[in-house]
Amino acid sequence: MRLYNEPNPLEVKILTRRFGITNSHTLDVYLQNDGFQAFQKALGMKPDQIIDEMKASGLRGRGGAGFPAGMKWSFVPRSSPKPKYIVVNADESEPGTCKDRLLMEYDPIQMIEGMMIAGLAIDSHKAYVYVRGEYRYLIDLLDRVIDELYARGWLGKSIHGSGFDFDVYTHTGAGSYECGEETALLDSLEGKRGVPRLKPPFPAVAGAWASPTLLTNVETFSAVPAIIRDGGAAFAALGTPRNGGTRMFCLSGHIERPGVYELPMGFNLLQMINEVGGGVRGGRKLKAVVPGGSSCPVLKADECDIAMDFDALAKAKSMLGSGGVVILDETTCMVKFAMRIMKFYAHESCGWCIPCREGTAWLKKTLIRFHDGHGTSKDIDLIDDIAKNMLGRTFCALGDAAAMPTISIVEKFRDEFEAYLAKSSTTVRVPELTVV
Ligand code: SF4
Repeated sequence: MRLYNEPNPLEVKILTRRFGITNSHTLDVYLQNDGFQAFQKALGMKPDQIIDEMKASGLRGRGGAGFPAGMKWSFVPRSSPKPKYIVVNADESEPGTCKDRLLMEYDPIQMIEGMMIAGLAIDSHKAYVYVRGEYRYLIDLLDRVIDELYARGWLGKSIHGSGFDFDVYTHTGAGSYECGEETALLDSLEGKRGVPRLKPPFPAVAGAWASPTLLTNVETFSAVPAIIRDGGAAFAALGTPRNGGTRMFCLSGHIERPGVYELPMGFNLLQMINEVGGGVRGGRKLKAVVPGGSSCPVLKADECDIAMDFDALAKAKSMLGSGGVVILDETTCMVKFAMRIMKFYAHESCGWCIPCREGTAWLKKTLIRFHDGHGTSKDIDLIDDIAKNMLGRTFCALGDAAAMPTISIVEKFRDEFEAYLAKSSTTVRVPELTVV
């Protein structure tokens, strides 16, 4: 496991520059290490100049979709007479992803400074941090940090005499993966059941309480101070064309040194595994990689010589997603892996639309039966067919998130499914224990 006071020499520490400093989450440490320089610079900038810097940075949303951040900011109608809200999506629940947790634990004020700069850009004075319920300890930490910022004039009315008012509140999620979807999150924030809304309108125009809302991921807001302080062009230059800056990669699974590493966008995946992560666990052979969280199509070992940015992975018919890089070695049973993923999605489907509610349940049932040794020769095509019939036909992206990895696993590891089936006819397997 990596330690944050021992940076890897290949890392480019922009968002994590204060990680490893004792009490890095406190205001005093933040102020001693360039804290609020960007906000003070932004106070002297026009809103359009801030948004132009964001566009120049090439920053793309780090929650998973990779939408250009500056463009998203420009969609919020600043002149609307309604209040404008800022909402941080800290409902980090994608299996394999654990970077927002660290950003909030080790440098929460960096994220808040990013929110304040966004407030200047879109004329917003009220912000919410929607934190997944399982991160209870982080909400306590954030609340303490926010209290100190109020007490020392960095939040509240006319921040340090600037005339700019800004309030921040935390809000606790209740443990639903679906509430990571932006409109379900907004419904949950408003106190309703967290199910997605029909889009358009998009949150930028009608978000929280039907008002214009800038809703963005923790890592995205955390990148803002560096962009404003050093300029969008400097941030863009760290990455690849159309994929500016660095990103937090969460290396997990069968890897020698799991951990979260900040690397330039476009960093080569094999180099990440071997030189950053110390290689595949126990010197075994690489079998596959989930490149961006469990909803991404898997890459086979021979597809892993690839730049880790949104465009290169899209070209390889996968996704960079939320940066959760899960390494699978040669001992991994892909049937079990597909079943385990589907148990998660079937559990997290909100049940709002039929293709996802029935599709995930049916896939789970079929995969469990197949895994337990009761599969038939038709099951492999059946699994593929159900997943393909879900793809693009569900109300929100969770249906696709369940279908895409399944389709890729069946397509790329069909021989393993067939071998498993052949072996099943001679072996009786004990079903996995199910935790109810
Ligand atoms: Fe709910 Fe799944 Fe439909 Fe999304 S796709 S609305 S999670 S049932």
